[in-house]
Amino acid sequence: MRIIAIDGPAGSGKSTVARALAVYLGLDYLDTGAMYRCVTFAAMRRGIDPADADVVARIVGDIVMEIGLQAATVDGVDATIEIRGTEVSRAVSVVASNPVVRAEMVRRQREWVGSHGGGVVEGRDIGSVVFPDAELKVYLTADPEVRAERRSKEVSDLDYETVAVDIARRDALDQSRETSPLVVAGDAFVVDTSSLSVEEIVAIIARALDD
Ligand code: C5P
Repeated sequence: MRIIAIDGPAGSGKSTVARALAVYLGLDYLDTGAMYRCVTFAAMRRGIDPADADVVARIVGDIVMEIGLQAATVDGVDATIEIRGTEVSRAVSVVASNPVVRAEMVRRQREWVGSHGGGVVEGRDIGSVVFPDAELKVYLTADPEVRAERRSKEVSDLDYETVAVDIARRDALDQSRETSPLVVAGDAFVVDTSSLSVEEIVAIIARALDD
């Protein structure tokens, strides 16, 4: 079973690269950030404060999410737009720091990979925690200005400054949390994507896979 782990901070190019790599390798693709976003959306929809760790821990096992390449549904409701919106983006890192939420997501991620016969899995802790035996662990990084620029192009209703502040805040939370923080796995293959095209990055990763 081929498992490729792609980790890195917001705007490092993970999603675009992971999708392209999955097509290139003929594997399925899993966006684990979308899973944490779906939990955040589900909590908000039920009127739960995302920072209330105990209550979120009680409901996380019941949340039904379907994450496709184009759309996401949570408990049967279309959440495609909302999970990328400001409110969810603001609260997601708090939800993702909840150890009970993480344990449940890791369980689902392993189950997903088992039933899909492997995959390209993208997130923050994929190489370090979820699949420490992945065939290749890639850590993508890029200059903070480049990352903010990329994200602000994706979310057209937010200006560069707002996005830059949001991703700096999320990076800090993701790197400093106690459970599975964002770290560069010791055996990760690090690629700085600041001045590379998607095709160039995929080619670099493909070469690393062949070595
Ligand atoms: O990748 P994306 O920016 O959509 O992830 C949203 C948030 O989900 C991250 O800021 C992080 O807090 C959390 N996350 C995580 N572990 C993962 C993937 C995402 O903690 N494997």
